[in-house]
Amino acid sequence: MRKSFGAVSVLNGVDLDVHRGEVVAVIGPSGSGKTTLVRTLNHLEQPDAGSVEIDGRPMGGRDRQLAAQRRRVGMVFQRFNLFPHRTALQNITLAPLQQRLHDGRVAAESRARELLRKVGMDAHAHKYPHQLSGGQQQRVAIARALAMDPSVLLFDEPTSALDPELVGEVLSVMAELAADGTTMVVVTHEMRFAREVADWVVFMDQGRVLVQGPPETVFDNSGEPRLERFFAAIG
Ligand code: ADP
Repeated sequence: MRKSFGAVSVLNGVDLDVHRGEVVAVIGPSGSGKTTLVRTLNHLEQPDAGSVEIDGRPMGGRDRQLAAQRRRVGMVFQRFNLFPHRTALQNITLAPLQQRLHDGRVAAESRARELLRKVGMDAHAHKYPHQLSGGQQQRVAIARALAMDPSVLLFDEPTSALDPELVGEVLSVMAELAADGTTMVVVTHEMRFAREVADWVVFMDQGRVLVQGPPETVFDNSGEPRLERFFAAIG
């Protein structure tokens, strides 16, 4: 896959397979193209060359078709992006109700409650985003992304906007999802998460995948100077 912004080539031939039930962590220096890669995976950015396949079917085509495909891809952003004038519960039921995923409001709310329980937020169902901490908002955002039953969940630095003491609660929800077999692609600076939770680690540098493999291979004996420089720089 390739992607440029004007004259700047941001993805220079990235080839990536994500298997069902697998957690892929994408790491690498700032500006290496990690965010662009995940945004391309749900066509928030169009690739200039190459394609994205979800469940074996290429993404693209007309608006309606693309919208249907995007539903298969959940996204969690760095800055939670909850709808500010809706409660946690409403944030979760909005898309499923619009898309008629369930048989009516009661069913949609019951599924939303289940998801809130899953992320440890059931006591806060009727609170608005401004009444919640950053970590709580991000957990609601994760529940919202799960509400469309996506095939894959994309995370773009989900903890980097959080105060340090709130990072753990979000990472532990993500680790639970991973243990449940959720397919996830996670751009992250949390090396411990990448090492302990990911099945596969992708190190990007200058728009390419420089090294990829199971965490123990990537973290322990890469022999790749740019990777070692990166680990040294982040301590
Ligand atoms: P990372 O997530 O690894 O920090 P990004 O994917 O955010 O990397 O950015 C890769 C490069 O693409 C950077 O040089 C960035 O400035 C550039 N870039 C990203 N988005 C845009 C855009 N919309 N327009 C122009 N340049 C962009």
